[in-house]
Amino acid sequence: MENIQDLKLLSTLYRYRALGIDYFESKKKTISYDKDDFDLPNNLDKLKDTAQKCFLCQLSKGRKNVVFGEGNPKADLMFIGEGPGAVEDEMGRPFVGRSGELLTKIIETTLELKREDLYIANIVKCRPPMNRAPTEDEAKTCLPYLLKQIELIEPKIIVTLGSTAYKYLTGDMKSSISKIRGEIINYSNIILMPTFHPSFLLRNPSAKRYVFNDMKKIKAML
Ligand code: URA
Repeated sequence: MENIQDLKLLSTLYRYRALGIDYFESKKKTISYDKDDFDLPNNLDKLKDTAQKCFLCQLSKGRKNVVFGEGNPKADLMFIGEGPGAVEDEMGRPFVGRSGELLTKIIETTLELKREDLYIANIVKCRPPMNRAPTEDEAKTCLPYLLKQIELIEPKIIVTLGSTAYKYLTGDMKSSISKIRGEIINYSNIILMPTFHPSFLLRNPSAKRYVFNDMKKIKAML
């Protein structure tokens, strides 16, 4: 991933803030620190605690709850959406509004799984105002949490929902979701498949058949 340095910097930046150290000040002075202080926790519960205290970007100012993600911590399959909507913000859980209902139905009927069997997360963990897409800055700021979740959960397969999730997770800002959807992509030795976002399916029910086909491929690979 091209912006891995940025991500390392951001997790360092987060730890500086958590320790009450101003990063830019610290560049002027020499601050001695233990390298381990600056890594995000290697434990999903502790990572959730860390994310819940995050104020790294402006989205934190408007949130009611941090929507960290939920599901089986050892899931083979992980779904990644864009960011919480109003209902998710209210409840602190991913995909529990209208598009969540559709996602749950897709999981149960096409994959014949329960939500709890897999893990569901988002690119950003706080609700963007008016349900707009997260900015590149917000996505990059939040990404270290998601990358750590992926590292800890070790899914075999990741399904990204919609173009925002695909582009910010992979760094491929150019491919259009309608062209790339359904493809099997190697993402750091994890199978990644982009598909349409359930909210797009709510607006365009005729596109459900594509997602149905994508899920058939996923089911066969599980
Ligand atoms: N849309 C998303 O991308 N994520 C959610 O959690 C809910 C709606």
